[in-house]
Amino acid sequence: MIDLHTHSTYSDGTLTPEELLREAARLGLSALALTDHDTIDGVAEFMEWGKRCGVVTVPGVEISVDSKLPNNGHMHLLGLFIDPFSTHLKETLRYLLAQRNLRAEKIIHKLNSLNVPVTMEELLAEAGEGAIGRPHVAKILLRRGVVGSLQEAFDVYLARGKPAYIDKETLGEAAALKLIRDAGGLSILAHPHLMRYDTFAEARDKILELKKLGLDGLEAYYSGMPREYTEKLLALAEEEGFVISGGSDFHGLNKDSVRMGSGKDNDLQVPDEVLAGLEERRKARH
Ligand code: AMP
Ligand code: MN
Ligand code: MN
Ligand code: MN
Repeated sequence: MIDLHTHSTYSDGTLTPEELLREAARLGLSALALTDHDTIDGVAEFMEWGKRCGVVTVPGVEISVDSKLPNNGHMHLLGLFIDPFSTHLKETLRYLLAQRNLRAEKIIHKLNSLNVPVTMEELLAEAGEGAIGRPHVAKILLRRGVVGSLQEAFDVYLARGKPAYIDKETLGEAAALKLIRDAGGLSILAHPHLMRYDTFAEARDKILELKKLGLDGLEAYYSGMPREYTEKLLALAEEEGFVISGGSDFHGLNKDSVRMGSGKDNDLQVPDEVLAGLEERRKARH
């Protein structure tokens, strides 16, 4: 079994790359991808620890994409097998990271004007070396007793449409797909059901548009994705020649219902063949 979607302390996960790999080894996973939000700063370290722990590592990243979607849906792309030393990728991600910090300041400003006391210093300390995300804000609010759970922090303040919500500066679809390709990666549409189209037919149309822009594959196995949705994505991949990926979107204690490898209530099992398919596609590229 493998898991090709995980977050570390370099973004909004709670385990370091080393701890992720130790956990993967303990669980008997044969391969793991690190896909932090908008950063590859943890990838070199991750690959080093992979060798020590005897787990195959896939260098990756998860990029938020600016796309007009219905029902508060969102689009994320995974770049798998990206070159962790690509200067262009690093520079572009660094720009996005700087934008995240500006956004964090705006979120704090909004919270303060709602009489919720949070400071940028606290938030920077909470995020550590990681890309600041709303989950870090949520943790502070929980610790302060402002909310009773991380979910409540989103429901009351941080989710889109709530009073402390601020949009993130993101790349467009074409730019994000090109960024991944130029860095030698395979582009995978992460958790396609979270684009939240009302019907699969509409999601399919969007996916076919992305294919024209260079999309390589679909994350068909994902914790929390309805079984029928996985089936539809697998069929679409077969029809259209997409490669398949799968993962838990593990965030450690920041999303504590989701286990590495097995997801939520054991709802996930990503077969080793998925990695073989990705590797084959990658070789065909060269
Ligand atoms: P950010 O990158 O700052 O936009 O934060 C995105 C992360 O926040 C996601 O990866 C989720 O972990 C979490 N998140 C976003 N929306 C919600 C929500 N409505 N409820 C709970 N967690 C959420
Ligand atoms: Mn996250
Ligand atoms: Mn995502
Ligand atoms: Mn993710």
